[in-house]
Amino acid sequence: MKFLVTGAAGFIGMNVCKRLLDAGHEVVGLDNLNAYYLPQLKQHRLAQLLPISNFRFVKLDLADRDGMAKLFKEEQFQRVIHLAAQAGVRYSLEAPFEYVDSNLVGMMTVLEGCRHNKVEHLVYASSSSVYGMNAKVPFSESDMVDHPVSLYAATKKSSELMAHSYSHLYNIPTTGLRFFTVYGPGGRPDMAPWLFTEAILNDKPIKVFNHGKMMRDFTYIDDIVEGVMRIQDVVPDNKAPYAIYNIGNNQPIQLSEFIEAIETACGKTAKKNYMDMQPGDVPKTYADTAQLEATVGYKPSTTIQDGMVKFVEWYKTFQKELTNLNGLKK
Ligand code: NAD
Repeated sequence: MKFLVTGAAGFIGMNVCKRLLDAGHEVVGLDNLNAYYLPQLKQHRLAQLLPISNFRFVKLDLADRDGMAKLFKEEQFQRVIHLAAQAGVRYSLEAPFEYVDSNLVGMMTVLEGCRHNKVEHLVYASSSSVYGMNAKVPFSESDMVDHPVSLYAATKKSSELMAHSYSHLYNIPTTGLRFFTVYGPGGRPDMAPWLFTEAILNDKPIKVFNHGKMMRDFTYIDDIVEGVMRIQDVVPDNKAPYAIYNIGNNQPIQLSEFIEAIETACGKTAKKNYMDMQPGDVPKTYADTAQLEATVGYKPSTTIQDGMVKFVEWYKTFQKELTNLNGLKK
């Protein structure tokens, strides 16, 4: 099968590409390689894909309407997994238009490409952040949620609405996946697993927001990829071409337990700076994953303790690689 994966140099995108390629599919990976975080990390991820013969990389911005239309027309993808976006709740307060261009215009160019080229199934990334502040827990897809508290969340909710309208108007089978705090080897430098590990290993203080009372449903990357692989193969039918699933761990933990897991993995104690909650953040995320389990047997299995050991091991190796690279450049 021929796939387009957007955000192929990103954390989730690279791992999804790898699994698709392992399964024998042909993959075109798209990314604009933006400088939101460490360019060397995106290159490091791409370096794992480029040698594989069924993979081709295209550097393109989602908001480039002509470029996107041309790519879809020339390539005639059967399935699309759309993971490129401007991610991050906090950065959406600083750079709102990046979110409009990448997440709204970008979703539109993908939907238009699917519409005009008869793509069999569009799977796209949404987020737990669409549930906002006051949703009842565990968060369930059957609860209507429409009060996002950050611009990032608003663009993700908007993506779901745009997908709904295109599914309805043009019968495009779409599946939205609400990801819950994804972590693991190769993870993002703007997220807590990386920031806390970096600080703890370097004896620097960590910022503990909401005085440690946050709860997050941390989900390990391999569990996420397994869920994406299974659900991309379940094409919604003509009668109900629009689906949404939570893809989380179904086991939220307090920030304090998360910090303990990193301390154990690093063999060091954290210096903690307790702080108020950040604007746009939500106090708790908790995925009800019963729907995804019922549809494809999704059962996340990695504990935060095991997952963070794997992350810290990877982090240390990657830092050595970075040091060597920087040494070579001097
Ligand atoms: P990531 O930032 O690592 O990957 C996104 C990739 O998209 C990046 O490589 C970036 O260069 C690319 N990109 C951004 N804007 C683009 C544009 N305009 N054109 C082309 N490429 C562009 O993020 P991730 O953690 O892999 O997240 C993947 C998806 O899942 C995103 O849509 C994100 O919003 C969503 N999500 C992630 C999490 C998480 O915990 N990681 C949680 C909820 C939702």
